[in-house]
Order: sequence, then C-alpha cells, then structure tokens
Amino acid sequence: MSDPEAADVVIVGGGPAGMLAGLLFARAGIETVVLEKHGDFLRDFRGDTVHPSTMEILDQLGILERFLDRPHTRLHEVRATIAGQEVVIGDLSHLQVPAPFVAIMPQWDFLDFLRDEAAEFAAFRLELNAGVERLIDDGQRITGVELDDGRTVRARKLVIAADGRSSIVRRDALLPITEIGAPIDVFWFRVPKPIDSAGALRGIIAPGTLMALIDRGDYWQCAYVFQKGMGEQLRAGGIAALRARIEAVAPILGPLGTVLANMDQMHLLSVKIDRLDRWHRPGLLAIGDAAHAMSPVGGIGINLAIQDAVAAANLLAAPLREREDVDNLLHQVEARRGLPTRITQRGQQLAQDRIIGAVLRPGANFTRPPWPVRMLGRFALLRRIPGRMIGLGFRRERVSSPKA
Ligand SMILES: Cc1cc2nc3c(=O)[nH]c(=O)nc-3n(C[C@H](O)[C@H](O)[C@H](O)COP(=O)(O)OP(=O)(O)OC[C@H]3O[C@@H](n4cnc5c(N)ncnc54)[C@H](O)[C@@H]3O)c2cc1C
Repeated sequence: MSDPEAADVVIVGGGPAGMLAGLLFARAGIETVVLEKHGDFLRDFRGDTVHPSTMEILDQLGILERFLDRPHTRLHEVRATIAGQEVVIGDLSHLQVPAPFVAIMPQWDFLDFLRDEAAEFAAFRLELNAGVERLIDDGQRITGVELDDGRTVRARKLVIAADGRSSIVRRDALLPITEIGAPIDVFWFRVPKPIDSAGALRGIIAPGTLMALIDRGDYWQCAYVFQKGMGEQLRAGGIAALRARIEAVAPILGPLGTVLANMDQMHLLSVKIDRLDRWHRPGLLAIGDAAHAMSPVGGIGINLAIQDAVAAANLLAAPLREREDVDNLLHQVEARRGLPTRITQRGQQLAQDRIIGAVLRPGANFTRPPWPVRMLGRFALLRRIPGRMIGLGFRRERVSSPKA
C-alpha cells in the first residue's frame, strides 16, 4: 500500500465485522486498512460460536477447509439441562450447508484466522495499537480518522465503523440510536477442567439460575446470568453463597471451593440491545455491533456481524473498484441488513423476556422443562426449527463481491 496515511476504505475496529469487511474489500483490490485499538485479538468476554451461516461464507471464499483445520469443537445439537433434565432443543445436523454444525472456537483464534487470510491480499493492511480517537468531518462528509497518537488516516472513499457496541459513532452521537434494553447482566468466570473431558457448550437452566458453559480445552468459560442491576447485591452476598449456588446447578464443574475463592474472579458484563436509526451518513457506514448491539442470547452476534460485512462488500466493492462515489449507495446496506437485524433482536427480546425473565424471577419454581421444550425433546423434526434459526438466521448473504 503506497500511502500509510490514506486508504480507499478505512475500517475502525478489528472484530469479526471489521476483519471480514477488510478481507472482502482487499480481495476486490480496494486499498483497505483496518485500525484496531488493541495490540492483539486476545480479549475475553466475546462469543466463541461460528455458525453454519458464517462457515457457508468461508466456503464461498474457498477458505473453509483451512478454517476447520484450526482447533475447534463441533456442536451438532444445542443441548440444555433444564431443572436437572438434559434436553436437546435444536438440531443442526440436517441443514443443507457445507458445515452443518456450530464450530466452537475462541474468537481470538477466529480473528487470527481472518487476519492470516486477509494478509494474502496486497490491498489489505491491519494496524494494531491503532485506537481511533475521532472521525474527521470536513463539513460535508466523513473523510478520515484521527488516531489516539495524533496521526490521521485519510479515507479516499469510505470510513466503516466496525468498532462494536461502544462505537465512536455512538460516543460522538454521529448517528441516531434507539436503546432497546436487556433485562439481564452476566458474570463471566473461568473454571479449570481436565483437557480430555470434552464438553463443547452447555446451557443450564434451574429456578433462579441460568448459566452457559463453553469448553475451552483446559478450562470452562462460564457465564452466570442474572437480572439486570443485581450484580452489586450478588457481590455483597459474597463468593461463598454464589459458589454454593453454582455448585448446586452445575455439578459438572466439580467442587469449586479452591477454584472460586474471590468475587474479583467474577467479571461483570452489562448486556444491552440497541440499534442505530440510520447506519450511514456521507462518507461513513456502521456495521456489526456498532450498528446494532446484540445480546449474547442465541450466540448469533458474531454471525450477524459477518453477514453485514458480506452485504457491505457485495453492494459497495464493485463500484468502489470503479472508483465511483458510494455515498448514495450506503443506504442499500442498511436496507438489506435492517430487517434481519430487527427480526433477530426481536427474537432475543422475546427469549429474554419470556424465557430468561421467567427463569430468573424471584420465586421462580419449576420442576421440569416447559411444554414447548418437552415437545422439542419428543419430536426430532421439531428440533430442526430452532436448529435452522440459530444456525442460519434470517436472510443469509452470499458472497458476490468481486475478486481482483
Ligand atoms: C457476554 C456476551 C457474550 C456473547 N457471546 C456470543 C457468542 O457466543 N456468539 C456470538 O455470535 N456472539 C456473541 N456475542 C455477541 C458478539 O460478541 C458481538 O455481536 C460481535 O462480537 C460483534 O462483532 P463486531 O465486529 O461488530 O464488534 P466487536 O466484536 O465488538 O469488535 C469491535 C472491535 O473494535 C475495536 N475497537 C473499538 N473501539 C475502537 C477504536 N476507537 N479504535 C480502534 N478499534 C476499536 C475493539 O477492540 C474490537 O476489536 C456475545 C456478546 C456478549 C455481550
């Protein structure tokens, strides 16, 4: 890339949305720089689930095999333990896609993979430790970014905000936003496990408690879900009480006496759902969580972010290659992805309010799974419906952006 201080497309944020968008625009021969504020991808509290819809895209790009060569575990069914009963609530094995399962891979490994693949294209550049401080507005349009070290990077054509739920477009009120809210928060913590006991992903639902356990080889990454705002109360109750609760509902974790010794091991993650009312303005497009913060429910946020990146490249890469002005095309990306976003967020809201809310309500009491879940347990065909919703989502994108 000739000029380190400029690119055709400047992408803020190297998460799933930003890295895949960077790969796709560079693949089309468009000079693209991804600016990531951290020095690596090694951050926690991110999703680990790569869904069939995402792997279908990797297949279209001819890189699925290399992705599957990286360490991961495969989830053909979605299982949960509800009131002590093990039930299958979704079956992905019948999906007509190249990889009909969820691949569980730490997100940093997935991002490393996207970086390695994108690096194959001469037009791609990734800058780490490159925090964007503000977007540059020349009064007519967004024309570039200013970094926290004072440097500027000019965007000849477009700035893409892929900087997640605390995006600069939100902080600086560059685009209007609607808060939808979420009635839950999460404590994240780790519990060591023997490396040979494979567990993949487990949901645990018991009166008053909801947990998710992700197998990361030598430890479980655990999420303890509770009613929003109860974090301080749980902390005040002390680690012994919380530990006892977790031991009671998740015996698979084993005795936790020495493992969970301190409340500082519980990392609070405030869950939110929101979306921008408009995803673009001249010179600027927001995608992924920057455009629509997702709840962890269903583990679909990464996959929606990936679909946004594909849609953006499908609609914009060819005109950008012809050096056309794309400001008047940005609304098409929102038009394409707005509906699936709204439907998915609505589904997350319903799950949060109707299912999770009922489970976590003080005094909640149930001794067996609710009837719809029992139906799923009884009829294998029914289990394909949630399998399809989780695995493929709504309105899958197909890569149609050009390759240089
Ligand atoms: C508790 C929790 C669990 C979740 N679990 C799952 C799951 O299992 N599966 C799933 O699919 N989804 C999950 N999600 C949702 C998922 O994490 C997000 O939807 C997804 O990561 C969005 O991708 P993104 O690329 O849009 O943004 P992000 O992944 O947030 O990436 C944004 C990137 O931008 C960088 N950045 C931010 N600001 C700047 C700046 N100013 N300058 C430069 N870089 C910047 C950040 O460092 C980050 O790397 C979960 C969410 C939560 C809250």
